[in-house]
Amino acid sequence: MTNNKIPFLDLVTLHEELKDELSSVFRRALETAGFIGGPMVEEFESKFAAYCTTQHCVGVGSGTDALRFALIAAGIGPGAIVLTVPNTFIATAEAISQTGARPDFIDIDERTYNMDPRRLAWYLASECVIDANSGVVINRKHLMPVRAIVPVHLYGQTADMDPILELAERYRLVVIEDACQAHGAKSFSKRDNCWKKAGSMGRAAAFSFYPGKNLGACGEAGAVTTNDAALAQKVRMLRDHGQNRKYYHEFEGYNGRLDAIQAGILTVKLRHLRRWNARRRIAAARYRQLLNQAGLGELAPFAPMRAKAVYHLYVIRVPDRDGFMRHLAEAGIGTGIHYPVPLHLQKAYEWLGYKAGDFPVTEEAAREIVSLPMFPQLTEEQQARVVAGVRGFLSTTTEPSTAQAAAAW
Ligand SMILES: *Cc1c(COP(=O)(O)O)cnc(C)c1O
Repeated sequence: MTNNKIPFLDLVTLHEELKDELSSVFRRALETAGFIGGPMVEEFESKFAAYCTTQHCVGVGSGTDALRFALIAAGIGPGAIVLTVPNTFIATAEAISQTGARPDFIDIDERTYNMDPRRLAWYLASECVIDANSGVVINRKHLMPVRAIVPVHLYGQTADMDPILELAERYRLVVIEDACQAHGAKSFSKRDNCWKKAGSMGRAAAFSFYPGKNLGACGEAGAVTTNDAALAQKVRMLRDHGQNRKYYHEFEGYNGRLDAIQAGILTVKLRHLRRWNARRRIAAARYRQLLNQAGLGELAPFAPMRAKAVYHLYVIRVPDRDGFMRHLAEAGIGTGIHYPVPLHLQKAYEWLGYKAGDFPVTEEAAREIVSLPMFPQLTEEQQARVVAGVRGFLSTTTEPSTAQAAAAW
């Protein structure tokens, strides 16, 4: 990587800084030859549970495993509808349909990009009926019960959990948080008058430790956090072929275990997570300041008072996104799109029967969102160059005021 290029994400510098600590993890695993499960996994699980302020953490093979196992352990399966957002990584919906359930989507809030609780309320009140005998919420079109909600804490900012949890209680729905982008994010609960950690608010939560996440392994890894001991035990069995005693299988499970080397690496990195997240927040504040100085303050992402985001991604909106990305690429600046095609318009979900126009807020966002470089080691000088690039592009497009208005939500 040359000095004057600004990558979208720099994982090389981060691992360079930790090389010795990480190598000793590998040596320790070699000496004991304990590669799957064992004390290194247990140590990470207890430290990550403490970090998330939950009683249990179960390490699994990936964030997708974590979502799938949490849903199955919460009793979700064939015949159920599970609600999530169309603006997320496909793993959220894959995990739902791979339990046998049907994903159904709730559009997002245009400012936070997370599930819009007003639309969730509208869906439950208008598209469902409550079965008089069982009290179960039935979707009128599909004649299937709605059983769960998977709010996604996208880009490192918690979803609007108070109203979501309230609706879940009222309609007796399970809430499984997709916290795969939100390690360490916090949400202020007015109901309980305190800050809560992502991963501690639903019945259970799923984390991914994919290398590019705020806490990333050097390979695949994930975890389920929960305060429900029975659910945690079920996830432990699901990750290990449905057994809790070798070769005695109570049900069919999966090969979804966390390996010792990844757990050891995660234990080392967890010690740095608070500092890394603080640096991401500082970088976000600096982007906001630089954008303000450039007269582009409206581009800075909305930061509601109720959330302390950990800025997994720093997402802005521009009308001519392709041109914008080309312009930045020419200046040696990497960008990304999270995500270019809403889930309901993906070929993989044709079978759900949605069409363009069904989730307009997501669809409009998908055309305009672009993620700027964001990682803990991002320097002030690099950020100044990014914002100069942003300004350079927007001032050459014919009507900068329109561009700003479009971004001003
Ligand atoms: C990364 C991610 C996942 C999946 O995690 P994997 O570890 O890649 O399986 C799920 N949901 C969201 C929102 C993610 O960002």
